Amino acid sequence: MLENSKLGILGGGQLGAMIIRHAIDLGLHISVMDKDPLAPCSRYTSSFFTGDPASFDDVLEFGRDLDVITIEKEAVNIKALRQLEKQGVKVFPAPDTIEVIQDKFTQKQFLQSHHIPVVPGEAIGGKNDLYQYEQKLPVCLKKRRDGYDGYGVMVLRTKEDILSAFDAPCVVEELVDIKQEISVIVARNEAGVIKCYDPVLMVFSEEKFILDHQIAPARIDKELQEKAISIAKDIADALKLVGILAVEIFVTKDNELLVNELAPRPHNSGHHTIEASTTSQYEQLLRAVLGLPLGDTELRFPSIMMNILESTSLNADRQAKVKRLLDIPEAHLHWYGKEGKRPGRKVGHLTVTDNTIENVIAKAETIRKILN
Ligand code: ADP
Repeated sequence: MLENSKLGILGGGQLGAMIIRHAIDLGLHISVMDKDPLAPCSRYTSSFFTGDPASFDDVLEFGRDLDVITIEKEAVNIKALRQLEKQGVKVFPAPDTIEVIQDKFTQKQFLQSHHIPVVPGEAIGGKNDLYQYEQKLPVCLKKRRDGYDGYGVMVLRTKEDILSAFDAPCVVEELVDIKQEISVIVARNEAGVIKCYDPVLMVFSEEKFILDHQIAPARIDKELQEKAISIAKDIADALKLVGILAVEIFVTKDNELLVNELAPRPHNSGHHTIEASTTSQYEQLLRAVLGLPLGDTELRFPSIMMNILESTSLNADRQAKVKRLLDIPEAHLHWYGKEGKRPGRKVGHLTVTDNTIENVIAKAETIRKILN
């Protein structure tokens, strides 16, 4: 039955590759489309197509013969996905869901209209509109579309900062006094069944807004944990989600929860589920979009997931470092095999598990020393 399902993924990066890895277990036929002919997924399926997920024609052509289409990035052509739906292809998450999330401002409006607590923010057309915020600095400025790994985020503290601000449609948010950042991954299927993973703690790098490492479980107050899970479930219902959704939440210094942003696809904060949870987020996505029962989300071991970023220090003696990493028990290396060498970009990750969080932290410290 499953081997006849033709699944397509828009986007061929590391998230796509990890979906493929789990789709193999289910015997699926997988097609992938990415702009970059050398994207990680190009090596893992013979049905790899070079095309732009944001192009109407490319998406339509790619989806024609598929049964189900899903995404590993939000920047996809919504019109083409709607057209494919009309032609009988199942598109999960639904085009409406992707569309509302693609734009950080419409996403915020959607959440507000469903009484979900979010970081307050306003939309502006470009840099010139920022001068009206001079008296309200500092603020956090975010591009409305296509931002990722902090590339579309900047903090404006002084009037001078406005000169170097993004000149694009943006959202201006108040700067939140963040105590902790957590993420909740939630899955929902067509029948409306919801399964949620426990919140994880996300620790961002100091200089850049990119995730450095993630700890599961988050070890926050039980009450906050339940609140976060309930928020994630409410959002999945409000979106009528079919698939998987990451809900990034700020815990403020006053212990308030504010949703920062959503990602309607597997997420960096859920990589640990491969080794640490009963069902990985990738398998859960496949179960959700194929109409299969959702899997158990229990965390079986505490874990830390560390992103590996491209850097000159990593490159010095890379082979020897990889060997040392692989020598650590229960340190699971995921190397993305990306072409090119742009400093700062994610080239892999490591998930380390153990029976106690103390042991996990000790191993993570060893790993950090090897990587630096
Ligand atoms: P991206 O989509 O690039 O991941 P995010 O909107 O998630 O961008 O922002 C990246 C990081 O920037 C957040 O994880 C947080 O550390 C910081 N940040 C974002 N918005 C705010 C805000 N309003 N106040 C303070 N810090 C913020």
